[in-house]
Amino acid sequence: MANQSANKTVVVFPGDDASPEAMNAAMEVLRALSLPINYVEFPPGDQWVRGETDVRARAAIDASDATLFGSTSGKTTAITYLRWGKETYANVRPAKWSKGYRSPMANPDGIDFVIVRENLEDLYLGLEGPLETLEPLKLHSRILRRQLDTRQHGIYAIKVITERNTRRIADFACRLAQKRKRAGGKGKLTCTSKYNMLPAADGYFRQIVQETAAKYPEIRYEQFIVDDFARRLVASPHDLDVVVMPNLYGDILSDAAAGIIGGLGLAPSGCYGENYAYFESVHGTAPDIMGMGIINPSATILSAALMLEYLDFAEAGRRLEAAVRKVYSDGRVLTPDQGGRAKTADFAREVIANL
Ligand code: ATP
Repeated sequence: MANQSANKTVVVFPGDDASPEAMNAAMEVLRALSLPINYVEFPPGDQWVRGETDVRARAAIDASDATLFGSTSGKTTAITYLRWGKETYANVRPAKWSKGYRSPMANPDGIDFVIVRENLEDLYLGLEGPLETLEPLKLHSRILRRQLDTRQHGIYAIKVITERNTRRIADFACRLAQKRKRAGGKGKLTCTSKYNMLPAADGYFRQIVQETAAKYPEIRYEQFIVDDFARRLVASPHDLDVVVMPNLYGDILSDAAAGIIGGLGLAPSGCYGENYAYFESVHGTAPDIMGMGIINPSATILSAALMLEYLDFAEAGRRLEAAVRKVYSDGRVLTPDQGGRAKTADFAREVIANL
C-alpha cells in the first residue's frame, strides 16, 4: 500500500496515439477534485527522446507513490520499468456493468467481476527465437513421444510460470475476494488455465492457486480449463467474482470481459506490486481515432479512481466512480463508441459537473 502521508506524488504518462486525448480528459477531472497530489507529467510518447527521457522517467517513478499511464504502442518505454522494474505482478481488471453502458448482453444488470491477471511472466518474457537454437537441449516432446526436430525452419516461444509469482498472485486474488466479500461480494475465486494440455506449467499455476485458496475457508473455490471458462464468461458472467489466470489468457479474456460490459472504452485496470502500483486503461492506443477528439476517457478516468483508492483517497475515488456512472445513467453526454455524439472533452466536463 502507498504510504499514509497527505501529500502524494503521481507520475503521468499520456501514452501514444489517441491515448493523450483520454489522459487530458482524466487530468482535467482529477484536477477538479483538488486533492493534495503533485502530478509529474511527461510528454506523449512520440515526443520522447529515447534514453534521456527513460532515465528521467525512472527517477520520477522511484520518487512517486503511483503512476497513471496512458496506453502505449511501444514509444512510451517507461512501461517496462513500471511492470518489471517495479514488479507490479497483479493486473487487476474489474468488469462491472453500470446503467447506460452499451452492453451486448440481454441482461447485463449485476455483472460485477474482476480478472486478476499475472503481469510479469508466462509468454511475456520475450523468450523467442529460431528453433535451431534449441538443438543442444535435445528436447523431448511429451505429445510426439520423441525428440523435437529442431532442424526444420521455425520459431519457439517460452512460457515461464514461477512459484514465487504464482503464489503471490494467488494470494492477492484470495485477499481481493475476501475484501469484496466483506463489501457484500460473492466470496468466490475462479482459477483458469489450460491445465489439461499444459499439465506442468498451467497445472502448476492451478495447483498453487488451489493450495492458496484452501487457506481462505470463507472463499469458495472453483477451476475451469480456459476454453470452457471462455464460454462461461459469455454465458454466465453474473456467476463470476474474482478470476485469476496467467498473463496471456488474462490479456485476451479481459478484452472479452470489457466487451461484455459494453466496450474497451469502459474498462479500467490497476497493476499492483509489493511497494508500487500503476494504473491504465485495458484498451490500447486506438490509433484509428487519433486526433478526432472522440476517444472515450471513461477507462482512464476509472483507472484514476482505482489509483485514488490505492493512494488512500478512497472517498474521492468513490465520488469519481459515481460521477462517471451518473453520466452513463443520464445518457445525455456519451462518446460515439457508446452511441452518443459527445467529444472526449464534453464527457470530461459532464463528469466534473457530477462530482
Ligand atoms: P493493444 O494491442 O495495445 O491492446 P489493440 O490493437 O487491441 O491495442 P485498441 O487500441 O485497444 O487496440 O483498440 C481496438 C479498437 O477499439 C479500435 O477500433 C479503437 O478505436 C477502439 N477503442 C479502444 N479504446 C477506445 C476508447 N477508449 N474509446 C473509443 N474507442 C476505443
